[in-house]
Amino acid sequence: MLDICIIGAGASGLAAAVTAAGKQKNNSVMIIEKKDVPGRKLAATGNGKCNLTNIHCTDVNDTLLFFEELGVYTRTDGEGRVYPYCSQAKDVVYTLVNAAESAGVEIRTDCTVEKIEKKDNCFRIKTNKESITAKKILIATGGKAAPQFGTSGDGYAIAKSFGHTVARLAPVLTGIEVHEDLKMLKGVRVKALVKLLKDGSVIQEEAGEVQFNEDGISGICVMNLSRFIKLEDGEAFAEGIRRYSAEIDFLPEVGHEQLENMLIKRMQLDLGSPENLLISILPQQLRRYIFDTLNVASAQKIDLCKLTEAVKCFRLGITGTKGWKVAQCTAGGVKLDEINMDTMESRIVDDLYFAGEVIDYDGPCGGYNLQNAWITGIKAGKAMADVL
Ligand SMILES: Cc1cc2nc3c(=O)[nH]c(=O)nc-3n(C[C@H](O)[C@H](O)[C@H](O)COP(=O)(O)OP(=O)(O)OC[C@H]3O[C@@H](n4cnc5c(N)ncnc54)[C@H](O)[C@@H]3O)c2cc1C
Repeated sequence: MLDICIIGAGASGLAAAVTAAGKQKNNSVMIIEKKDVPGRKLAATGNGKCNLTNIHCTDVNDTLLFFEELGVYTRTDGEGRVYPYCSQAKDVVYTLVNAAESAGVEIRTDCTVEKIEKKDNCFRIKTNKESITAKKILIATGGKAAPQFGTSGDGYAIAKSFGHTVARLAPVLTGIEVHEDLKMLKGVRVKALVKLLKDGSVIQEEAGEVQFNEDGISGICVMNLSRFIKLEDGEAFAEGIRRYSAEIDFLPEVGHEQLENMLIKRMQLDLGSPENLLISILPQQLRRYIFDTLNVASAQKIDLCKLTEAVKCFRLGITGTKGWKVAQCTAGGVKLDEINMDTMESRIVDDLYFAGEVIDYDGPCGGYNLQNAWITGIKAGKAMADVL
């Protein structure tokens, strides 16, 4: 019988294995991984560069120390995002896998855990190939986001089978789909302040580059806002989503009155077409879209108040998010009050542990989600190996 069996060779599973194994710890550790190689998602993080963590995260020093001890040399950018120095996610995967295997961890790939039962103080893990028994298990199966990397939400069913509660799941860190037809804006990128409204009130805002697609908007600021689109328990999707809208301020540095005055002055100039009132403020496609929507025939007939509104309060009705395939994270998961967050052990079942995205945590872009995976993996690894 194994001492420790870890389900999932992703970020948290590998961190836990490296922490729990090794000669002096004397534990037999196995990782069972669904995909053909470990760390498929990890290798794709940060566009292949792997934004490991962020210096603004709590417990970041534990993560930095963990990687320093493994020989991963890092650099930090102006926004606190930490990357391996050479910006190669695959080097992080290699280092972790190599460290785990050198410490005696067996990584069994192409093997899917289907069911786990606990009997007589040991766990019987049924996979698509065989049954394995272990004294302690760690569910490090990730969430439901980006299932092409093996994460199709299996951990939630396992958690529920042990009596755990799973908070409502939603794809987050993804683009937002809107009601308006944005075909003519496809490909436009602008720096702006984006506000998320619920029932007409602003609940969150974020500045950054907004990218227009034919059916919606994306970009890091939009992805971060997607975390705040939350349907209430039992609320039907169509009803819940209708309560949300987005408002874009394309000129946040300039107030409404100041913009109106600026436009009055511009009206005295011979700028050619009416839409050129916004020349050098907005890209041409966006100017055209706004003027088409306002249905303006000549510069003299422009309602400056409406034009200012269109620049500073550009409203979009939200119809959904881009969904699981392109989401970078899962909101919801195994409820935190059912887990001892110092050890990551279940408060319901002894010797059952959770780490990574499977728990009810999601952070913004910038290294926060991998930080959650490392730190919970390290804590679980220590606790399972009794080296707290
Ligand atoms: C494209 C993309 C880019 C991202 N970039 C960043 C970034 O730069 N910085 C950042 O902080 N976060 C980033 N994230 C988020 C981050 O990758 C995840 O939050 C993190 O990997 C979660 O770690 P984890 O250990 O919980 O799960 P994962 O790393 O997803 O690993 C879970 C593993 O479990 C395996 N598994 C699942 N079910 C089973 C089963 N039944 N049996 C056996 N194995 C199973 C899966 O195959 C997978 O290998 C990104 C996400 C995506 C999709």
